[in-house]
Amino acid sequence: MHAFDYSEPDSLAGVLAELEEAGEEGKAIAGGTALVILMMQRLVRPRRLISLRRVAGLDRIGTADGRVRIGALATHRRAETSGEIRSRLPVLAETLSHVATLRIRNVATIGGCLAHADPNQDPPVTLLALDARVHIAGRQGERQLPLDEFFLDYYETALRPGELVVAVDVPSPPPGTGSAFHKFLPRTADDYATVAVAATLTLTPDGVCRAARIGLGALGPTPLRARDAEAILIGERLHDGLLGATAEAAMRAVDPIADGRGSADYKRHMAGVFVRRALRSAWERASREAA
Ligand SMILES: Cc1cc2nc3c(=O)[nH]c(=O)nc-3n(C[C@H](O)[C@H](O)[C@H](O)COP(=O)(O)OP(=O)(O)OC[C@H]3O[C@@H](n4cnc5c(N)ncnc54)[C@H](O)[C@@H]3O)c2cc1C
Repeated sequence: MHAFDYSEPDSLAGVLAELEEAGEEGKAIAGGTALVILMMQRLVRPRRLISLRRVAGLDRIGTADGRVRIGALATHRRAETSGEIRSRLPVLAETLSHVATLRIRNVATIGGCLAHADPNQDPPVTLLALDARVHIAGRQGERQLPLDEFFLDYYETALRPGELVVAVDVPSPPPGTGSAFHKFLPRTADDYATVAVAATLTLTPDGVCRAARIGLGALGPTPLRARDAEAILIGERLHDGLLGATAEAAMRAVDPIADGRGSADYKRHMAGVFVRRALRSAWERASREAA
């Protein structure tokens, strides 16, 4: 590994100032589970690493104005086991439990996951289906972005140089909402997904679909939303044929690459299978909630 300087400022302002000073030579580090591998593979060679770990409160999880806010430094495991998330967003806790191994979940952070923008990661898929918003801080102040505007390309986000993810927040689901996350990983239980799908459906008490969001992972250059597929469901009473048409529309939205987990055609086919499964689970949960 090449030599680099390392610092641990104890405030967000301190981290932002050091990032600005370091310019292209500097990089923020949170859990380090992705960054250190990239450095060992010599794919990135930062001269300065500026750690977020001593910024007080950056790992806080709480609820305000009907939204659950997860600080960027919260680890996957902390979020997975948070009472707040388990009670208000159980599908997110469930999703996090499928990420890699406990050792990695104990270290990897929500902010690191979003900033890393690997399309094979799991949490962004569910966060898209839950209508999450990203909080970003820079030297010029803070801004917010819907998560579906945050991912731009493979490993590329809307973060500007020197900006940090400070939190992600998620609205409390309205009554009659059910969500589900399905990860297809035929190799080992701690692998990245071959295909991952999250679905959120909101039903009226008489069973009409009021809102639908479908998130897709490992199926394109970024985590995706299947908007045309979602539109098929809105205003309709759900039935198997409709779920089939929705799955076919989702298959048209994906653009997977062939790799060790399967060919592009195979992944597209499995996207259809798993969209249907996730919708069925979300439908069952939403029906119970709406009753
Ligand atoms: C073997 C292995 C298997 C894995 N399997 C899965 C899996 O199945 N599913 C899954 O979802 N994930 C999986 N992961 C985790 C995932 O790929 C990333 O490693 C993890 O989400 C990165 O989080 P981190 O906090 O360690 O980020 P870091 O490695 O610290 O940082 C990653 C990048 O984000 C930047 N960064 C970090 N925090 C911030 C911030 N707050 N604001 C702006 N930029 C920031 C860094 O500069 C760096 O560029 C796996 C990881 C490993 C090592």
